[in-house]
Amino acid sequence: MNPEYRLFTGLGWVTPNCESPTAASLLACGERIVAVGPSAERIAQEVGAVEVQLTGRTALPGMIDAHVHLGEFGLSLLRNADLSGSGSVEEITERLRQHANARGEVAAGWILGTRFDQELLAERRFPTRQELDDVAPGRPVVIVRVCFHAAVGNTAALKMAGIWSDSGLVTEDDAAKLLSAVPPPGRDELEAALLLAAAEFRAKGFTAAHCLASSAEELAALRRLSLAGRMPIRVRVNIPYDLLPRLSEMGLATGVGDTRFSIGAVKLFADGSLGARTAALTSPYADEPANAGMLLHSRSELEQMVRRIHEAECQAAIHAIGDLALDRALDALEAAQAARPRPDARHRIEHASVARPDQIERMARLGVAACVQPQFVASDFWTAQRLGPHRIGWAYPFRSMVRAGVRLGGGTDCPVERPDPWAAFAAAIDRVQLAPEESLTLAEAIRLFTEGAAWLGFSEGVLGAITPGALADFVVLPPHTTWPPSSWHIIPEAAFVGAAAAS
Ligand SMILES: [Zn+2]
Repeated sequence: MNPEYRLFTGLGWVTPNCESPTAASLLACGERIVAVGPSAERIAQEVGAVEVQLTGRTALPGMIDAHVHLGEFGLSLLRNADLSGSGSVEEITERLRQHANARGEVAAGWILGTRFDQELLAERRFPTRQELDDVAPGRPVVIVRVCFHAAVGNTAALKMAGIWSDSGLVTEDDAAKLLSAVPPPGRDELEAALLLAAAEFRAKGFTAAHCLASSAEELAALRRLSLAGRMPIRVRVNIPYDLLPRLSEMGLATGVGDTRFSIGAVKLFADGSLGARTAALTSPYADEPANAGMLLHSRSELEQMVRRIHEAECQAAIHAIGDLALDRALDALEAAQAARPRPDARHRIEHASVARPDQIERMARLGVAACVQPQFVASDFWTAQRLGPHRIGWAYPFRSMVRAGVRLGGGTDCPVERPDPWAAFAAAIDRVQLAPEESLTLAEAIRLFTEGAAWLGFSEGVLGAITPGALADFVVLPPHTTWPPSSWHIIPEAAFVGAAAAS
């Protein structure tokens, strides 16, 4: 026996190019795929491979999430008691106590909870400052409503934040002020958060992710954990624009790294969000006629920023949700390319949520890719009200983009959405409420999170594919899962990264 070689047998493969499961054995040597199909079995015999029997399972390439805030997600998992579905004030305080007992050391001793809805409580009111005081006398306690626009603090928390409310209830700016008093994580806590988040991704079938680092500390933590072999998934780290000078100083640019950790794009924001009506539109919101959203940079500012990224040999990732923001982003990218042509720069637009037909043509012509979030289609039920009937066809126009030849990759934008590729497939293929003609086929939806996301990360042929030479990253569904499945509530049996199952 030669343990370097592993032959996976009994699997039926689903790929973007093959929608119904096709039986084939897969032979891996170390982390890489050596052969697939009959030749895999022949070579396996010659080299004495170890057989891993996975009889009757459907398998797919490992999923790649091309837009994730891993640290933010991990900290929310680590630091917050989940209060969703609480039915009484007592249930909330009990969940907070349990959380404090289990994770007393996180958030510098602050006891935090999120996602409660006072409408679901038997009392039909917010918990009070005094009720939260009783959870853990002397320790700061804050709970945040499901919408994130309202919070309740106890006496200690309000004092430490330098604000006051008799009931403890604070909203909007005061809620933000209360939360900003919670100390940032130290090195150990940040590492624990990243590991927790990554484990969650892998459990859902993701084997790689493009993570936006929120700070240099997060970038360093991702690097340390990857180097030590502790990260359960491969990470490609997108860098916030304000870190670009430090990146360049160190001689780093897009593509530096290895298969476990690499530097991705440089991220900047052109506008806000549709939910908050801050995404920049060319004409006003249908449900707020005096408001057309807002651009975060002047035309010349944005052009200068994009040009710096482009000239630093980096890939740009521009957050643009409204069609005006998209116009400006495309102007800036076109100007940067004209000033200094760079082949295969693969600049990308994050979201491109509202895109007119002329903009889709322009993206295809300029070779600008898009990282799209199918789950938004299902979650953002208010999109039609925001845009009005004449623009509704411009919302998340996935099919038009595919038809025009725009390169697409998929992302969850977790923690905005759950890290769940199966939920993303469901949202992409079955757009009942929102421009159903823009639905994708299941094969196209799978491509978003495999080949498409791999291409956005310059990893085509290495990730997101089941072919010789690619990394042996794949996800195996439980036995007897039919395909397409009858329900998209899927929990994979295992996700293999470099031919290794999670330990
Ligand atoms: Zn995001």
